[in-house]
Amino acid sequence: MRAAVLHGREDVRIEDLPEAPLQPGEVRVRIHAALTCGTDLKVFRRGYHARMLTPPCTFGHELSGTISEVHPETADWHVGDRVVAANSAPCGTCPTCRRNQPNLCDDLLFLNGAYAQSIVIPARLTQRNLHRIADSTPFAHAALTEPLACVVQGIHDLRLHPAEHLLVLGAGPIGLMAAVLARHHGCQVTLVGRDGPRLDHARSLGIDDIRINRASEGIDCPDLPSGSFDAVFEAVGKPSVWEATPDLVRKGGRINLFGGCPAQTSVRFDTGRLHYSALTLLASFHHTPETIREALQCIESGVVAAPHFINASIPLSRLPAHFQAMATGNQAVKTLVEVDG
Ligand SMILES: [Zn+2]
Ligand SMILES: [Zn+2]
Repeated sequence: MRAAVLHGREDVRIEDLPEAPLQPGEVRVRIHAALTCGTDLKVFRRGYHARMLTPPCTFGHELSGTISEVHPETADWHVGDRVVAANSAPCGTCPTCRRNQPNLCDDLLFLNGAYAQSIVIPARLTQRNLHRIADSTPFAHAALTEPLACVVQGIHDLRLHPAEHLLVLGAGPIGLMAAVLARHHGCQVTLVGRDGPRLDHARSLGIDDIRINRASEGIDCPDLPSGSFDAVFEAVGKPSVWEATPDLVRKGGRINLFGGCPAQTSVRFDTGRLHYSALTLLASFHHTPETIREALQCIESGVVAAPHFINASIPLSRLPAHFQAMATGNQAVKTLVEVDG
């Protein structure tokens, strides 16, 4: 099979790899759709991922396709099933899983290798985080399930009430999905992002109120009311933006520091502001089997219109050049990688 192989920093090559034989409990999925993601861009730039990837290795983690092979000792799945796989599965037995926080499982099993013609789905994943998709759901739409599940988790954690006013910082795919979900919950949404094509996407999604951030660090948005929002969803992942959030919420407001910042960075907050305004700071990470199911439902029911988040497509052969372009500021929301050809 052809696959994109990560060899090191900014070194991805398209190669032919042998298909691994299946073990009991496993299935092979012929991949029809893979989506690019900011996490993969970080992996491309860095050449590895501390928790998940040691080169040379395949990578990419947002995928859907058709089951092409089932091990004789794998229950419940059949050749031809249209499926979407999450990029991880919790163990279900560690202390964290038993506390019902499987997103933080001590032994999370990760799945990478979406930029390839096929992938082996490990037994734990076929049992916990592989889902059939409707015949009417395009593969590209279903592939959005994983990133959307992270956002579903983040919105849950903020405990939004209808009619609350949410400020979303960041107009990448995560910020845009958070805005759409909050609107679906009945919230009023203000979105702040850097000027560019992504803000045009926000407008096409019908987001009520869009503001342009003029600063490359922090927030510089002169007409943005401070101290008024019920909640903030930070989807930029910069310490300077995290630090700007306490001044934006009302007394008793909640802040989800959702965007992952570069390693070994730290932030400073005004202690008086946090204490006397009784602010809640929280952070969400990853997803659970439950939020994966919920995300797929959101896509299949049209709550989240997947085409709005996928605005370019390339063949697998163009992937190395595409990551170079992303690294230098390509503004596509998400790109569909067509691995069929
Ligand atoms: Zn992703
Ligand atoms: Zn666990």
